[in-house]
Formats: sequence, C-alpha cells, structure tokens
Amino acid sequence: MRAVGIQARSAVPSTTDPLTPIWRPSPNFGPRRDGLTPSLIVIHYTAMQSAAAALERLCDPVHEVSAHYLIGSDGTLWQLVREEDRAWHAGAGSWCKKTDINSRSIGIELDNAGNHPFSEPQMTTLEQLLGQIKARWSVKPSGVIGHSDMAPGRKSDPGPRFDWSRLEHQSIASTIGFNKDPKDEQFHTFRTLARNAGYTADVDDEALLAAVRLRFRPWANGPLESADFEPFGSSTNLG
Ligand SMILES: [Zn+2]
Repeated sequence: MRAVGIQARSAVPSTTDPLTPIWRPSPNFGPRRDGLTPSLIVIHYTAMQSAAAALERLCDPVHEVSAHYLIGSDGTLWQLVREEDRAWHAGAGSWCKKTDINSRSIGIELDNAGNHPFSEPQMTTLEQLLGQIKARWSVKPSGVIGHSDMAPGRKSDPGPRFDWSRLEHQSIASTIGFNKDPKDEQFHTFRTLARNAGYTADVDDEALLAAVRLRFRPWANGPLESADFEPFGSSTNLG
C-alpha cells in the first residue's frame, strides 16, 4: 500500500537537468558586435533530410552559416558555436525595431525538413535547452521567436507544424499578442485618442505626451498616467 501524501517522481526530465551537448565546432562564427549579449533565442528548422547533412552544412566554411545548437529528431543535442560568440543563423531582418539579430541571439536549428511534425524527444530537448539558455542570459519568454518572426516574407521556419502553444503553455515562449510591452499598448491608445482629438502631427510618443500635457495638464510630468487620458473623455486602468 502506498502512503498517502507521497507523490511519485515524475519521469519527465526537468528543465534544470544539465544537458550535455555533443561539441561539434563550426568555423562559422565571430564576436558579438557592440558588446551585445543574447536577449533573443531564434528557432529554425534545417529544411534538410537529416541531422548529419545539416551538421555538415552548418560546419562548412563555404556556406557561411551556423547556429549555436542543432537538435536531432531523436533529441540528440549538438553544440556548434559557444553561446558567447555570434553564430550566423538569422541573416537580414529585425525584431522589436532592432537589427543585427545574430549579435543579440542564440540560434537553435531543429532537424526537420519542414513538412512534418516535430518529434517528442526533439521538443523535450528543446524545452530543456530553452529553459537553460533563458536562465543563463535572462531571456524573457517574449524573446523566444521564430526565424519567420524576424524575417517575414524571406523565411518561414520553424513553420506551421511547430507547436508554439506547447511552449506558451509552459511560459517558455509568449504569444505575439502577449508579447507587447503593456506601456506600448497604453501609448498606442493614448496616441489614437490624441489623433482623434486633432494631434495628427508626426512626433514621437514623448513629444506627443508633452504637447497634450502643455495644453491640459501643464503641471504634470513623468511617465504616462491615467489622468493623461482624461482630456479625451476616456479612462483606463492605469495605476
Ligand atoms: Zn532559419
């Protein structure tokens, strides 16, 4: 008979279990520019037939591409570039108005041709790896993105088969809708109200707020607050 109150240990590996990647160094990397450190993690699929083929390509100086990690469909983890270094996986693009994504990110390639689901062992390794990278570099859930997020039109990986909701449910990633800085959203509302009231001149948020305050609340200063919405007959839940 089992004692009441004692829980069976989960067989699922926790995100804190240390991962031991197979070191397969790629010559395709350089230093991160402008003293940048990783604040993003970019997820890719290889669009190749096997992990072996992908490894070869990611380590071939002729192709000038790489990633920090490759995860095989059986969950095997290879590391090709040190996290401190700048791997060549992202290319041209932008996220949150920032460019040079390679200097700001860790790149993870998933062995997948792009037209089939991602395997369970592969997703399990990915979740562990994401948890550990996020802890090492303080990457937020909103910083876990797909290649297609930063290079729309040009790239479509990790593609429609990738299970983002699985990562979102564990707070490993966040949906794009939840991604927004609440402050940005409040400012968006403020800007819309101000525009409807006549403030259509093209200025940045700070200048707009200053102008509205000059007219209606000249004594106010500091960040956007609830009272800034009152001249427009609107109220918000701002503290
Ligand atoms: Zn990619």
